[in-house]
Amino acid sequence: MKVAKFGGSSVASAEQFRKVARIVQSDEERRMIVVSAPGKRHKEDIKVTDLLIQLGEAVINGEAYETIIEAIAARYADIANGLELYAAEMLEQLKADLRQKIATYSSSHDRLMDALKASGEDHNARLMAFYLRSLGLDAHYVSPREAGIFVTDEPGNAQILQESYEKLKQLRNRSGILVIPGFFGYSLTGHIVTFPRGGSDITGSIVAAGVGADVYENFTDVDSIYCVNPTLVNHPRQLKEITYREMRELSYSGFSVFHDEALEPVYKAGIPVCVKNTNNPDAPGTWIVAKRDHGNEPVAGIASDTGFCSINVSKYLMNREIGFGRKLLGILEDEGISYEHAPSGIDNMSVILRANQLEGEKEQRIIDRIQTELQVDDIHIEYGLALIMVVGEGMERAIGVAAKATAAFAKEKINIEMINQGSSEVSMMFGVKEEAVNRAVRALYEAYFAPAYAQKE
Ligand code: ASP
Repeated sequence: MKVAKFGGSSVASAEQFRKVARIVQSDEERRMIVVSAPGKRHKEDIKVTDLLIQLGEAVINGEAYETIIEAIAARYADIANGLELYAAEMLEQLKADLRQKIATYSSSHDRLMDALKASGEDHNARLMAFYLRSLGLDAHYVSPREAGIFVTDEPGNAQILQESYEKLKQLRNRSGILVIPGFFGYSLTGHIVTFPRGGSDITGSIVAAGVGADVYENFTDVDSIYCVNPTLVNHPRQLKEITYREMRELSYSGFSVFHDEALEPVYKAGIPVCVKNTNNPDAPGTWIVAKRDHGNEPVAGIASDTGFCSINVSKYLMNREIGFGRKLLGILEDEGISYEHAPSGIDNMSVILRANQLEGEKEQRIIDRIQTELQVDDIHIEYGLALIMVVGEGMERAIGVAAKATAAFAKEKINIEMINQGSSEVSMMFGVKEEAVNRAVRALYEAYFAPAYAQKE
């Protein structure tokens, strides 16, 4: 049995709905379908989830919002009309549902936002089930509550509760094609709680793990996952296969094809993932698996992301001071800040984190606390940092991977601000200034992939 998740662009219009139906009909093993809210139909379009966020903000700010409700309903009406479905009743229900959520959660902004955001996928799943039924398929909408997707009560940041998996198993006994909305679950107290943005991937993975699917198919709008951001390099190599660990590293650091939190459930359950293109379903796609043969190519991919900063502290004889690192990270923990890397030297330590966590008065408070509580000689925060990850399981046994990167940077006259390699040796991190990041990624691509390509051609 296959669980197939369709992302926002795959369910953005009537034409895309038709493609989804053809994909579902072409393989009877595709029994569980998870859908996103309608995404962008073209570059300038607005995702329904973003319209719903606008709606929530208008309500919270006491602004007029009826036109936003109409704009949201128009997206679904457009799909229904294009499919020649009589959906007037469904559209009225949609508007009534949004108004009711606004009334119910008027005093709780977090809950209001989550309830509104979730309705994007919820109504799309209803519409998809309705459409599939109109084609004669035995399709049923299943709400996350009925499916058993129970989550922690953290608005916008839900995490699955283990007890969900027992309940999800029972979905196997249901007949027909089940259409489940992605992106949200229910707290044990019965509230709608959403996963982080892009979280329909997470729902798909949870459902796949829960029902013990043979494959989790993730339908998106690219033929495969590429070894590097395809907007930076012409015709980059397509990845046929990649391991869970490699994918985790790449998606965490900038590969937006697959949500980084979505891997855990399928990884634990040992279910292979196939990333495929709704617009070209015959393309083989990319398989995410536990093990692969990496031949003599140690690097699987290169990813990058911007928006980081580094808190750099130095103190003479830091290496002799027992507990220094713990105290430094303890201050960040107290302040509710998560960090990405913490490279250190004998008298200095840097902590790299997402810069948006230091907004407001937090930055100064942290500097003051580190100065007074740790008596450091110097502390400064460097902004505008980009992180580049060179990822590949084969790096563990390969010699010269770092040398190639540093030579490529030197040739391009790019200064490396920071280097870090974890003990897993599945990735190597380079910190560079944000303005140099695209050049740096291209230089690395040339270093690792272009020669092999040239040989093949
Ligand atoms: N619709 C949600 C978002 O735009 C979730 C998803 O599409 O995966 O973030």
